[in-house]
Amino acid sequence: MLGLMQDQPLMISSLIEFAERHHGDGEIVSRRVEGDIHRYTWADVARRARQVANALDGEDLLFSDRVATLAWNGYRHLELYYGVSGSGRVLHTINPRLHPDQIAWIANHAEDQILCFDLSFLPLVQAVHAKCGTVKKWVALCDADKLPADSGIPGLVSYEDWMGAQSDDYAWPSFDENSASSMCYTSGTTGNPKAALYSHRSTILHAYAAALPDVMGISARDAVLPVVPMFHVNAWGIPYSAALAGAKVVFPGPALDGKSVYELIEAEKVTYAAGVPTVWQMLLTHMKPAGLRFSTLRRTVIGGSACPPAMIHSFQQDYGVEVLHAWGMTEMSPLGTLCTLKNKHLDMPADAQDAIRLKQGRAIFGVDMKIVDGAGKELPWDGKAYGDLLVKGPWIVKEYFKGEGGDPLVPDEQGRGWFPTGDVATIDADGYLQITDRSKDVIKSGGEWISSIEIENIAVAHPAIAMAACIGVFHPKWDERPVVAVVKRPGADVTREELLKFYEGKTAKWQIPDDVLFVEAIPIGATGKILKTKLREQLKDYKLPAA
Ligand code: AMP
Repeated sequence: MLGLMQDQPLMISSLIEFAERHHGDGEIVSRRVEGDIHRYTWADVARRARQVANALDGEDLLFSDRVATLAWNGYRHLELYYGVSGSGRVLHTINPRLHPDQIAWIANHAEDQILCFDLSFLPLVQAVHAKCGTVKKWVALCDADKLPADSGIPGLVSYEDWMGAQSDDYAWPSFDENSASSMCYTSGTTGNPKAALYSHRSTILHAYAAALPDVMGISARDAVLPVVPMFHVNAWGIPYSAALAGAKVVFPGPALDGKSVYELIEAEKVTYAAGVPTVWQMLLTHMKPAGLRFSTLRRTVIGGSACPPAMIHSFQQDYGVEVLHAWGMTEMSPLGTLCTLKNKHLDMPADAQDAIRLKQGRAIFGVDMKIVDGAGKELPWDGKAYGDLLVKGPWIVKEYFKGEGGDPLVPDEQGRGWFPTGDVATIDADGYLQITDRSKDVIKSGGEWISSIEIENIAVAHPAIAMAACIGVFHPKWDERPVVAVVKRPGADVTREELLKFYEGKTAKWQIPDDVLFVEAIPIGATGKILKTKLREQLKDYKLPAA
């Protein structure tokens, strides 16, 4: 017997319809590429998303055709999120920090039909447009009078001309909720990038889950600042969860330096911010010397790479901002775990609480996870055993776009498919996950594993160190030994010997790095994460000091 409930497909358009009807006056504030601040409401987003949908219908696009963006976080990008997916097309957000050849490769692989870009990326588009054979229309996300005259891009139109001429009367279509809605290519540190293809159903389920109190906990009282880019895994789903909750959204545009982010937080009374550790590092570096405080910021989600304990401590203890450490990946829409305390932790001293917050947190309902040994045998949740992390759930990929890379899933005894994350982790008895490494970054020393994240965390806890990256270097006896490359804070000083001494008592003796390398900068990839492949390349001629 079937239940007798209404059968309504889960559609992304329903989010924007809901936002317009129930909190249409909620504010959307954007710092524009031009530098000024733009303000309007959820009702305006809904109206203009319908105009986008009409404009797309006028381009003879088929169902599931791809519409690409090369854009910062801003209101026009948000309109495309809803107009493109809502009308049955697939929004392909491209990371503008990728190499131009990679961008052309991705646009061709996705068979993008229309590409919308912020004017900051005009030189990039000029460099790649001739190589993007499938793109039949280029749209500059600007007012008509800002459209460059001699761009060299055939048929270039301004977004405002293109969609502004359209009616805002549009009935969102209803279709199979498993239809594709958006796509994002993985960082592709090895081989060509592969795309995760999200569906309406996966996006809505993720939006519901993300809004839960022990997940992102976004509410109608929040003013949310997604510093995490809309070109990287849909800004962790915030554009959808904020519509569902009715939060105010504040988009930082291209200005991601500490000063600009701080000023926006204060001016717009931001209560909630989300981003990768490198962005928060810039913010804290700006605030500390000037003695600045937050007036309204209460919580910040930090993820994408391990959040150093020094940062958790500073946000919590110095600024009274709760850190929500999150883990996920492009293939997971992206949220997998998020770290909030349990009731029994509330009476613990602050430092003990910080030690829990350092972990990546507990699985979100919908995501199941396990750690396995080399033979695929599940390992205990004791906080000590570490193994390869596998996940499954309705917002996790089952295969990549166009079947690239074959079937990634690993079946269990019941034949259920688990996605291998490529991360190595422990899980404790309370279900808190702790990522110890990417499997390819683990340092294997004398048959034991050393967590590069732990070595980095200790280095950045030293007051003179701004950034650290640890890699394994060949050793004739131990196979590999850790060395840590560090960037000093401006004006601060520390010697190699002092830093090595700093490790004593903080980790097992045999895990202390063999060497410290002072560098000007550590290579950062397109999504703000340390590029260890590049660092290894830079240090390929490096030899360990004689013992
Ligand atoms: P991406 O798909 O580019 O977002 O990268 C996903 C990968 O980033 C994960 O598989 C992890 O290796 C890493 N990652 C994401 N969040 C965290 C975190 N909080 N701590 C440590 N690593 C993380």
